[in-house]
Amino acid sequence: MPTYNTSPGTRDILAPESARWRAFQQVFADIVERAGFGHIIPPMFEDLGVFLRVGETTEIVTKEMYDFDDKGGRRIALRPEQTASVCRAFVEHRPVTPWKVWYAGPNFRYEKPQQGRYRQFDQVGVEVLGIDDPQLDAEVIALAVDFYRRLGLHGIRLSLNSLGDSGDRDRYATALRAHFTSHLDALSTESRATLERNPLRVLDSKRPEDAPLIAAAPRMADHLTDAAATHFAAVQSALRAAGVDFVIDDRLVRGLDYYRRTTFEFVATSLTAAHTAIGGGGRYDGLVADLGGPETPGIGFALGLDRTLLACDAEGVFAAPTSAVDAFIVDVTGGEQAAQLCTQLRAAGFGVDRAYDSRSMKSQMKVADRSGARVAIIIGEDEVAANTVTVRTMESGSQQLVSRGELVERLKTVLGR
Ligand code: AMP
Repeated sequence: MPTYNTSPGTRDILAPESARWRAFQQVFADIVERAGFGHIIPPMFEDLGVFLRVGETTEIVTKEMYDFDDKGGRRIALRPEQTASVCRAFVEHRPVTPWKVWYAGPNFRYEKPQQGRYRQFDQVGVEVLGIDDPQLDAEVIALAVDFYRRLGLHGIRLSLNSLGDSGDRDRYATALRAHFTSHLDALSTESRATLERNPLRVLDSKRPEDAPLIAAAPRMADHLTDAAATHFAAVQSALRAAGVDFVIDDRLVRGLDYYRRTTFEFVATSLTAAHTAIGGGGRYDGLVADLGGPETPGIGFALGLDRTLLACDAEGVFAAPTSAVDAFIVDVTGGEQAAQLCTQLRAAGFGVDRAYDSRSMKSQMKVADRSGARVAIIIGEDEVAANTVTVRTMESGSQQLVSRGELVERLKTVLGR
């Protein structure tokens, strides 16, 4: 018989790590719902066209898309991110603005798998459509900062940049193209290819041979219109007022083409591997119109769950919650008593597990031990005859005979409820 393992770049998330994932999403939901965001669950696949808007010169679109023809002959793609889906949903449903939504769930990119880089990875994120107030930019960024703090993370660096309006971006791209083209010999082969597609992405090159040319490249800040520059200054002062630390990084272009004006990225200083970016976002004021909707400003962020948890591991924070049951039932009279007690105690709000297959007392006690339950409830023939159970506190080993009628109250006392 053939056996199968997970496909490259995918993983099974087992307990207790899976409980940590849920807790992660729960902390995020608490924070953003308190800030007025509603939960959106977009589909995991869409028409490929939705994602082509992410940027036809980006690797996400040119190389990493999981796309295929379905049986109805549609060109479908598994979502590589969720911002484009949210904008498609906005155009489809035309909700009143401001539309504030949050999401959590997997995305798919055909990348080279390695530590912190997967083909299926999870993100949590928010999007706000319909507002271009710089105070909103600062509030959105502050929400992410608040979330990292709630996880217990300290080593987070926020980089901030403005990519200007689309005209600024085009003028800047022209200036960059001229700069790099006039020094083509000094550029790496890879960056020369990137230059053909999108000069801004050359700034993202991490190749040492490109570093001097990148350092000498024209600056985005010198290509901003007054309106974009004023917006950027207002975002910075709102962040200062909110007590959010940041560094300006005018080389920050990010992987998606749709960003305008404010862009930002969070880096975990505790991570040493190549992938230290744990989240990012920005404004995408043209995206809704690109998808056939009215001109609508938008801003949001996406935070990578997988990588953020690696940062939590590196800092020793946000451990997996313990998920042990409260009580384990050891029934050496055949198991029917255990079945009844499970039903009764679970209905009363306790976490309860039991053994099966009428095993011996010794082997059932072993399972009870391994379960992590704080209490074992033991039922033998004597207990059945007297309508009692023996309650054993696992840590101390102390035992008490308790009548069935008093069991719930006794458990509450023992478990400190
Ligand atoms: P992006 O959607 O590319 O702006 O990415 C936002 C965040 O998602 C990044 O900062 C990462 O934390 C995470 N991320 C993106 N791609 C991957 C991947 N292939 N594997 C794991 N995390 C990813």
